[in-house]
Amino acid sequence: MRMLESAEQKCYDMEILMNEKEEELNSIIMELRKNYTSLQEKFAKEESDKLAAIETLTKEKDARLSAERSQSSILEDLERAQRECSSANQKILSVNDMYKRLQEYNTSLQQYNSKLQSELQQTNEILKNAEKEKVAVLENISSLRGQCTSLQEQLTATKASNTELKNLKEAAASEVERLRLDLQQVRDDRDRQLSQVQDLSAEVLKYKEWTGKSAAEVGNLTTKSNQLEATCISQSDQIKILQEKLAVAENKLAMSDVSAFEIRTGYEEQMRANSELQFRLAEAEVKLVEGESLRKKLHNTILELKGNIRVFCRVRPLLFDDGADHETKAVSFPTTTDNLGRGIELLQHGQKHSFTFDKVFVPESSQEEVFEEVSQLVQSALDGYKVCIFAYGQTGSGKTHTMMGTPGNYDDKGLIPRSLEQIFEAKQTLQNQGWKYEMQVSMLEIYNETIRDLLSTTRPLTESSGTKQYSIKHDANGNTHVSDLTILDVRSSREVSFLLNRAAQSRSVGKTQMNEQSSRSHFVFTLRISGYNESTEQQVQGVLNLIDLAGSERLSKSGSTGDRLKETQAINKSLSSLSDVIFALARKEDHVPFRNSKLTYLLQPCLGGDSKTLMVVNVSPAPSSINESLCSLRFASRVNACEIGTPRRQTSARQMDSRLSYG
Ligand code: ADP
Ligand code: MG
Repeated sequence: MRMLESAEQKCYDMEILMNEKEEELNSIIMELRKNYTSLQEKFAKEESDKLAAIETLTKEKDARLSAERSQSSILEDLERAQRECSSANQKILSVNDMYKRLQEYNTSLQQYNSKLQSELQQTNEILKNAEKEKVAVLENISSLRGQCTSLQEQLTATKASNTELKNLKEAAASEVERLRLDLQQVRDDRDRQLSQVQDLSAEVLKYKEWTGKSAAEVGNLTTKSNQLEATCISQSDQIKILQEKLAVAENKLAMSDVSAFEIRTGYEEQMRANSELQFRLAEAEVKLVEGESLRKKLHNTILELKGNIRVFCRVRPLLFDDGADHETKAVSFPTTTDNLGRGIELLQHGQKHSFTFDKVFVPESSQEEVFEEVSQLVQSALDGYKVCIFAYGQTGSGKTHTMMGTPGNYDDKGLIPRSLEQIFEAKQTLQNQGWKYEMQVSMLEIYNETIRDLLSTTRPLTESSGTKQYSIKHDANGNTHVSDLTILDVRSSREVSFLLNRAAQSRSVGKTQMNEQSSRSHFVFTLRISGYNESTEQQVQGVLNLIDLAGSERLSKSGSTGDRLKETQAINKSLSSLSDVIFALARKEDHVPFRNSKLTYLLQPCLGGDSKTLMVVNVSPAPSSINESLCSLRFASRVNACEIGTPRRQTSARQMDSRLSYG
């Protein structure tokens, strides 16, 4: 029983222990559960964290991928940039090279420039020397002239004295002759009287012999005889005197003979001296002419180096139509040596306006003299230059006279026919040096900004004959083409003068129809010259433009309407465009307004820096034209001050050509 009790006790204890344990375990379980929940929470949190982390990770991955992609593109860019950099480096090297070459070229150009300058100085000096020589020669000539005139005066004086002496001599001779005759007469008288005396003596003797009748008679006779003897004696005396006189006269005659001889020898000597002086004068004149042509050449060279537009002024003679007031002189020409042949003065309202040009032609200057000054310029068209000669001035000032001359009057030919004659002559001469030239001519008129072909055979010339465009184009070589324009090959100046007549007729047809259009239109004569030298393989391309401009008078717009107003505006515009172009060229402006008028656009290649331009300003001397003349001269002197660059020849040697253009 005890055992059971103890066992029961034990069991009870155990139970209690178990309960305790159970409680303990329960609390542990609780705790564990708590732990579990907290762990679960933690886990959930961890899980969400992990999800977030995964998300950011994927995001980062994406970002990294895109970064990698951009990196690769950047790398490509870099490579490209590097390639570019290396090519740029190469370019820099080549540019440096080029720069070096350019610098060398520049220095060579500078050298060339200084050479040109020194040449210019030299030529200037030569010119100065030549001018000095000229002055010396002129002085020499004038002194020689003075000597010559004094010698001639002496000569005439001696001639006069000689003739006087001769006259004297003749007078003396005639006197001697007369005296001789007198003497002879007196001698005859004497002889006669002597014979009378003898007769009388014989008679006396006879009388005496006979009877001696009357002594008184005898006495008478004696006295008579005595008287006769006295007269005889007196006549003898007279004879003596006459003889003496004769001797004196003869003496005088001899003397005058001697002096005549002397005078003759003196005269001959003077003639010799005179001819010598004349020879020297001729020599000096030749020298002067040579010096003058040298001066002209040097002047031309200087102008070429300076690149000026040359300006000549020509004053026409007063015409009958100019009004009755021929007394007051509005235009005069200074005679000081430094401006001789280059100056002109205008008197307006008592005020004097002076101008100087490259050359001034006085009213008496002939067409030939004008051409002489122009001929070298014309010649240079054959050497491959582009040449423009303009005639400028108011209507009636002589533009057409200067350019064309008087039709039908051979000596009054103008610049155009003379230029052509010279060119064809020179062509003939140059043939011997292997040159062959081809010439083409075109003639047109610009009226109201419209081109008219003056050589076209398909007329009529009316405003509406407008199927032809006549559009102007310039090619890369500076050659001008006018579409539809008649261009004719010419081989002689005769052919050209035939064409000129045709053109003049076309113009005058227009004139009657078009209200004196010729003074309101520009006439442009163009001769294209292309030359080829077989032996040297040289080629030249020259152009000669000869232009008779429309009248420059300022036309008042008031009162003009319709066609007349249009015409006025066209002339004003084209002439002012011409001056605008010239002044823009002179100022070296980037934009030269060639396109502002047909005339300037047509002549564009011939107005630029590498051409030769001459303007002949025509002036009327009539006092009624003084205002217009002043305008013309002012315009001309502004043009004269322009430097538009250095003329260049268009020439090439065929083989070298290709090499040069790639050099
Ligand atoms: P523009 O063409 O300028 O209108 P013209 O040449 O027709 O002038 O000349 C007008 C007139 O003057 C014409 O009768 C012309 O013969 C005459 N004339 C012009 N210049 C001279 C001159 N140098 N010598 C003689 N007559 C001239
Ligand atoms: Mg005219």
